[in-house]
Amino acid sequence: MSAVAEASRTKIVTGADYLASLRGRELDVWLLGERVSEPVDHPIIRPSINAMARTYDLAVENRELASVVSPFTGERVSRFLHVCTNVDDLVLQNKMQRRLGQLTGTCFQRCVGMDAFNSLFSVTFEMDERNATGYHDRLKRFLTTVHHENLVVGGAMTDVKGDRSKAPHQQDDPDVFVHVSRRTEHGVYITGAKAHQTGCINSHWILVMPTMRLGQADENFAIAGAVAVDAPGITYVYGRQSCDTRMLESGEIDSGNAKFAGQEAMIVFRDVFIPNELIFMNGETDFASMLVQRFTAYHRRSYVCKTGVGDVLIGAAAQAAEMNGVDRASHIKDKLVEMTHLNETIYGTGIAASYQGYATASGAYICDEMLANVCKHHVTRLPYELGRVAQDIAGGLVATMPSESDLSHPEIGPLIQKYLRGSTEFTTEQRMRVLRLIENMTLGRNAVGYLTESMHGAGSPQAQRIEIGRAMQLDYKKRLARALAGIETEGDAAVIVDELSGFLRRVFDLPDSEPDEIHGSD
Ligand SMILES: Cc1cc2nc3c(=O)[nH]c(=O)nc-3n(C[C@H](O)[C@H](O)[C@H](O)COP(=O)(O)OP(=O)(O)OC[C@H]3O[C@@H](n4cnc5c(N)ncnc54)[C@H](O)[C@@H]3O)c2cc1C
Ligand code: SF4
Repeated sequence: MSAVAEASRTKIVTGADYLASLRGRELDVWLLGERVSEPVDHPIIRPSINAMARTYDLAVENRELASVVSPFTGERVSRFLHVCTNVDDLVLQNKMQRRLGQLTGTCFQRCVGMDAFNSLFSVTFEMDERNATGYHDRLKRFLTTVHHENLVVGGAMTDVKGDRSKAPHQQDDPDVFVHVSRRTEHGVYITGAKAHQTGCINSHWILVMPTMRLGQADENFAIAGAVAVDAPGITYVYGRQSCDTRMLESGEIDSGNAKFAGQEAMIVFRDVFIPNELIFMNGETDFASMLVQRFTAYHRRSYVCKTGVGDVLIGAAAQAAEMNGVDRASHIKDKLVEMTHLNETIYGTGIAASYQGYATASGAYICDEMLANVCKHHVTRLPYELGRVAQDIAGGLVATMPSESDLSHPEIGPLIQKYLRGSTEFTTEQRMRVLRLIENMTLGRNAVGYLTESMHGAGSPQAQRIEIGRAMQLDYKKRLARALAGIETEGDAAVIVDELSGFLRRVFDLPDSEPDEIHGSD
C-alpha cells in the first residue's frame, strides 16, 4: 500500500480532516503549463477540493443521509464508501446526491468511485464463481482498508481511445487504452491514459477499469485494480474550465460560485505498478462488458445529482426575476414551473431506478438499468433547456455585465451602482451576484458539470439509446399488440403475463415479494 495510505492512518471525519489528508503528497500535477506544487493551495483547484470536503461535512451534519455503519469495520463511514445491500441504500445515495448538488451547485466528484466498487463487488463475485480467481475477497480487503480511514476513491474508466472505429489491440499506439505493459509474480505494470477523470487529484485511491466491451485479442486491456493517487509513474494534467482564471483575480463576485467547482484531469500512467492484492480483473475480457454495463447503470442514475444543481439554478432564476421586478408576470411563473417540471423529470426516473433495484448474486443491490439509462438520457438534454430558460429569465446582463473591479472602482463604480440596479429592494451588488451565479452554471466553470458532464459523463447520449434499445423487449410488446388486435396465434394474455422477463418483470414485481436475483435485461 502507498505511503499516503500508510501515513493517513487517522480516520478522516470532517472536511478539514480531509483537506489535511491531501497535503504534502507531491503529486505530479500540471495546470496551465506549470507544475503545481500543492494542489490544495491552488486557487483554481481549491474550489473542487471544497466541494469534495462538503461530502464529509454533510456526513457530520446529517449522518443518516451521508454516512453508514461499515459492514467491514463496524464504524461510521461515508455513504460514498458503501456497497448497497438493499433498495434503501440505493435510494439514499440519490437523496444524498441531490442534497450535495444543492449545497455546492456543482459536481462534488465522489460518485464515480462509489459506483465503480459497487459494480466491481458483483462482477468480481461472478468472476470468482466462474473461474475461482479470488478477486472478490481482495476487493473486500481493499474496501476494509478504505473504510478504516474513510478515504476518497475515484473511478477511472474512460480511456483516451484514439481512433474510435478501432478496438484497443488495433490502435497504432496501444497506449491510447490503458493496458498491462509488464507482468511479474508480484503484480502488473500499467501504461496509458484516462481522460476526463472527475476528482482524481482530490482522491486517495483510483479504481482503474476497462472502458468498453473487449474481445479475446484485447486481453492486456482487461485490467481492473486500485492505484494510490500518489503512486510512482502517474502524471495528472488538469482540464481547464471556462472562466477558471477568474479565480486568479481579486474579488469573488465574477467567479459566480467562489467556493465550489468540479474537477477533471487527464491521468497518464507510465509503468504504474499494481500489486496482486489490488488487482480485481486481469485478462478476463469476457467480463469487461458486464463491468462497464453495471458501472454505467449505477452511474447513470447517480446523475440525480444534477437535480440538486437544478434546484439552485431554478432558485437563481426566480431570484433574478424578483430582482428585475418581473416575478409576478405569468410567463415568468410558467417558466419556473417548466424548469421545475424538467428537473423533477430527471429526479423521477433516477429515484425510480433506485427503487426498482434488485439483488445480484453477490448480495449487492443494483438499480434498474432501463430507468437508469432513461434518467441519464434526460440528463443529456434537460439541463440545457433549464439553462436556456434561466438565461431567458435573467436577461442579457448574464453575458454582458461589467466586472467586480468596475463595481468597486471609485470613478466608474457609482455608474454601475446606478445603472445596474433593478428592483430597489435589492442592491446592485446582490443582483450582480445572482446573475454571475447563473452565468457560472450555464456558461462558466460549473457549466462543465451542469451541461457538458450531463451530456458525456457516464457515456454520451447514444450509449444510453443502445442500452434502452437492448432492454426494450419489442418482441414481447408486439405480442401484446397482436393479442389485442386479435392476431395472436399462440398463447393468450395469461401466457404473456407468465412470460414476463427483464425490465418488465421488474416493473410487475410486487413490493412484498422475496427479493430475488433478476439479472439485468433479457
Ligand atoms: C465533465 C466530464 C466528467 C467525466 N468524468 C469521468 C470520470 O470520472 N471517469 C471516467 O471514467 N469518465 C469520465 N468522463 C468520461 C465520459 O464517460 C466520456 O466523456 C464519454 O464516455 C464519451 O467519451 P469521449 O469523451 O471520449 O467522447 P467520444 O467517444 O469521442 O464521443 C464523441 C461522439 O462520438 C460518438 N462515438 C464515439 N465512439 C463511437 C463509435 N465507435 N461509433 C460511433 N460513434 C461513436 C459518441 O456517441 C459521441 O456522440 C467524464 C466526461 C466529462 C465530460
Ligand atoms: S457528475 Fe454527479 S454523479 Fe458524477 S461524480 Fe459529479 S456529482 Fe457525482
